Amino acid sequence: MVRKMMIAGNWKMNGLSADGMVLAKEVAASVKAKKRICEFVVCPPFTILAVVKKALRGAKVALGAQDCHFDEKGAHTGDISPLMLTDVGCSYVILGHSERRADHGESDELICRKAEAAHKAGLKTIICIGETLAQREKGETIDVCSKQILGSVPVSATAADTVIAYEPVWAIGTGKTPTAQDVEDVHASVRKVLAKKLGKGQANKMRILYGGSVKPANAKELLSLPDVDGALVGGASLKAVDFMAIADNAGC
Ligand code: PEP
Repeated sequence: MVRKMMIAGNWKMNGLSADGMVLAKEVAASVKAKKRICEFVVCPPFTILAVVKKALRGAKVALGAQDCHFDEKGAHTGDISPLMLTDVGCSYVILGHSERRADHGESDELICRKAEAAHKAGLKTIICIGETLAQREKGETIDVCSKQILGSVPVSATAADTVIAYEPVWAIGTGKTPTAQDVEDVHASVRKVLAKKLGKGQANKMRILYGGSVKPANAKELLSLPDVDGALVGGASLKAVDFMAIADNAGC
């Protein structure tokens, strides 16, 4: 089964217009400079989506947002709808990132509702799952990830509209990563749960990204694992040279 590798950058709450534009232009130039075999996505904050879209013009780099509401419009002060994201040029949205689960109390049920709404609006979703350190130390990693997949991935999800990102919470921004064997074990088990939920055909086609302290130095080992189909990159996506070195080292 050939799944197109994806390298996605989650800029989180970083970037004003000027530096966001420079970063996006550098990524765009680097993607254009050589024949690439993977799909690139950058996910800046809402406020600079339009600026980044413009800076990416002509480059095969998709634009993504970091969250959305489940309603199309209405009385939800401070929220952004899926339609607003397509309107500004997004084709992806990250949902259920552990920082949103922790900072905003997002449940699997809410994430699933958001994903359904995003798909209805024509967005593709990157749905994040992952265990905390306490859960890992109790040996609950597979159970936690399975529960998150079962609860937050819509039953109507397909490999064409959904990407999963396995991001162990304790690996995000810490410089720590699981062993390659641990990553492969979780990804393989996630694929099994997806097969139960969505059928083997969709599960085999669906991309499962790894995220959590991915750097140029560990990209080759992590991204060459059989069930790892790319990376969701946080800190290292804020420097074009690092972001693109991750792609280069992964053979993208
Ligand atoms: C993330 O938050 O999605 C992430 C993977 O962060 P980092 O690469 O900085 O660990």
